[in-house]
Amino acid sequence: MGPDVIVVGAGFAGCVTARILADAGAQVLILERRNHIGGNAYDWLDENGVMRHEYGPHIFHTNSEKAIDFLSRFTEWYDYEHKVLGYIEGKLVPIPFNLHSIEMLFPKEKAEHLKEVLINVYGMGNKIPILELRKSDDPMIQELAEYIFEHVFKYYTMKQWGYTAEEIDPAVTGRVPVSISYDDRYFQDRFQKMPKGGFTKLFENMLEHENIMVQLETEAMNHIHINTDTGLVQYKGARFTKPIIYTGLVDQLLDYVNGDLPYRSLEFNVRTEYGEVQPVTTVNYPTPANEHLYTRITEYKHMMENPPQERSTVAVELPYAYDRNAAKGNVPYYPVFTDESKKSYQAYVDLLKDIPNVYLLGRLAEYKYYNMDAIVEAAINFSYQFLEKK
Ligand code: FAD
Ligand code: UDP
Repeated sequence: MGPDVIVVGAGFAGCVTARILADAGAQVLILERRNHIGGNAYDWLDENGVMRHEYGPHIFHTNSEKAIDFLSRFTEWYDYEHKVLGYIEGKLVPIPFNLHSIEMLFPKEKAEHLKEVLINVYGMGNKIPILELRKSDDPMIQELAEYIFEHVFKYYTMKQWGYTAEEIDPAVTGRVPVSISYDDRYFQDRFQKMPKGGFTKLFENMLEHENIMVQLETEAMNHIHINTDTGLVQYKGARFTKPIIYTGLVDQLLDYVNGDLPYRSLEFNVRTEYGEVQPVTTVNYPTPANEHLYTRITEYKHMMENPPQERSTVAVELPYAYDRNAAKGNVPYYPVFTDESKKSYQAYVDLLKDIPNVYLLGRLAEYKYYNMDAIVEAAINFSYQFLEKK
């Protein structure tokens, strides 16, 4: 007897789905190419006593009751509100750029005037994407918008994506809008908490189920083959008609028949430090690449409930073009959202339209900029719809 369902990938998309289907009685097999579960949210306690996030800092924040209720079955939480500072003209100022940032960067009188104009035009407490702010007719706001664009978005975006802020989907820079407030938190969601014991522990608890089997270090595409001309799906050489829920790269799934989809990769240069290196978890460097090649530095212990005092672990983040064959930059972290890439992605999805038992879910497979809470909610919705149809 084989599995009822194969899930490819043990990140949030795969694990949430596996758990819901297993609860409903299905035998679920998860294939994961890495040697651990958790996808990009994987964390572990390192030699400095620091909870290190292997694939970059992961902060849980949400307004989704559905995601909170589901995940709270597998973890308790502790409070953590993320703060980010940006290195601008030699100072460390709050990001998202807000009224405090203005006070720190402009002479008092000018700062007061700028704040007054912003509050009058946009209203206290509102958030304006930088590309919107740049369209203002007000010369004072225009000047400020150009300043913020130049000092916060222009170079960071170029370093992060290899594209200008105008070329990339506006929703990307819109994730960090200019904030007409004195709230220095990076996120404003109602629920801002981290899982006690870490994300990996949460995943372990989620997968602890008699109907779930996980095979690590297993490249799924060594076992799954899809012929889009004949509609034949095979697992280990035999026809497979049961569901496959695939959370990896769709171009890989279809053997790159239309060429590679663009992804952005990262490298984390991790080092041990002593004491405390920076005042908050993350410091952004929105400076030109010839000043700082990296985009941000993360000191992980600021995110911990009980951080070690003496030692610290710091990660310097360097963006790379993704290349699956390269020694560096071979992990696909972010889909790159341009008009062209979205079309190329859709062409791959169209190839699968006559294959009823293969489902695409998750950040890589759906080519979406999902935060953790969003993919948890999407996976819950997917799973219940899937069960209803059966
Ligand atoms: P993933 O976590 O990428 O999991 C996919 C899994 O599938 C991986 O384990 C992969 O190895 C496996 N896989 C893929 N293809 C195959 C294959 N062919 N065979 C076998 N296994 C395969 N979200 C937040 O909410 N807050 C944050 O602070 C935050 N910070 C982030 C920072 C960075 C640097 C990045 C890159 C992302 C961040 N995110 C954050 C987003 C978060 O990582 C995603 O929402 C989440 O990981 C998506 O889960 P997923 O299951 O779709 O994908
Ligand atoms: N961004 C920027 N400067 C900053 C912070 C963000 O230009 O100081 C832009 C950049 O394009 C980035 C995007 O806003 O990729 C989204 O930022 P976010 O912090 O959400 O990125 P993530 O944590 O997902 O990498």
